[in-house]
Amino acid sequence: MNIIKKKAIDIIEKQFAKTAQVLDVRAWNPSTFYEIDLHLPGVDMQKWQSVQHMKIKVAAHTFRDYTPADWDASTETCTLYVDAAHDGAGSHWAASLKTGDEVRYMGISTTFTKPLDAAMLFCLGDSSAIGHFLALEQLAGKGKLSGALVISDPEHRDFFSRDFDSRLEAIPQETPDNIDNLHAWLQEQQLDNSTVYLAGNVPMVVELRKKIKSMSGFKGLVKVQGFWW
Ligand SMILES: Cc1cc2nc3c(=O)[nH]c(=O)nc-3n(C[C@H](O)[C@H](O)[C@H](O)COP(=O)(O)OP(=O)(O)OC[C@H]3O[C@@H](n4cnc5c(N)ncnc54)[C@H](O)[C@@H]3O)c2cc1C
Repeated sequence: MNIIKKKAIDIIEKQFAKTAQVLDVRAWNPSTFYEIDLHLPGVDMQKWQSVQHMKIKVAAHTFRDYTPADWDASTETCTLYVDAAHDGAGSHWAASLKTGDEVRYMGISTTFTKPLDAAMLFCLGDSSAIGHFLALEQLAGKGKLSGALVISDPEHRDFFSRDFDSRLEAIPQETPDNIDNLHAWLQEQQLDNSTVYLAGNVPMVVELRKKIKSMSGFKGLVKVQGFWW
């Protein structure tokens, strides 16, 4: 990154960045996935009608998007679910956090993901989308949402299935791109006029959208949120 861009980021950060406190960090076993509890003073979570994302400073001049989930408006707290199994600045940041740390972020904005009035909402994604779909489930209400999340680590899958009160199903990774296993899962469902939400790896959600749109008899909507390349 050149010096002018760095200077511009410094100025924007000085003007707009806010601070959150880390209340707790829980690593899944093995420790390549993190739950991070944050206190976000002054954030009015009552207003949230769609899934949000926060642009968080993960290293000098480096920001990444993460999804606030499990929020409690009365205490101004939420939990981030961070997939850190790859080598990236965001992964290193998540792995380094401790209770009491401060987190700088450049605001919270809405995504296009919000509950629609369909009989059933189906969610398909990879591990990076866990928080995104838990947030959608919080907005839609328990029982309104079903889906499959590719979680490649078997211990993580067991943990998710056992400890999360959700109809989201943890399924294994069978191909590097996760397209065929998610598509196969969806083909087993009664789709009708349902809404299908896709989130995670960009080529994966783009390809899945095409496949779902061409499924015979499918008359519902497909909502896409690409996360990473
Ligand atoms: C609106 C929005 C909300 C998001 N919410 C979340 C969230 O709640 N939790 C979450 O974990 N992520 C979330 N993401 C994705 C997250 O911002 C990106 O995955 C981010 O690029 C990770 O940054 P990094 O610095 O760790 O890796 P990068 O430096 O961006 O990438 C390094 C390498 O790792 C690969 N990579 C990046 N992410 C992944 C991944 N998840 N799995 C495998 N390989 C990967 C890249 O292809 C690249 O080769 C969200 C993204 C968006 C746009």
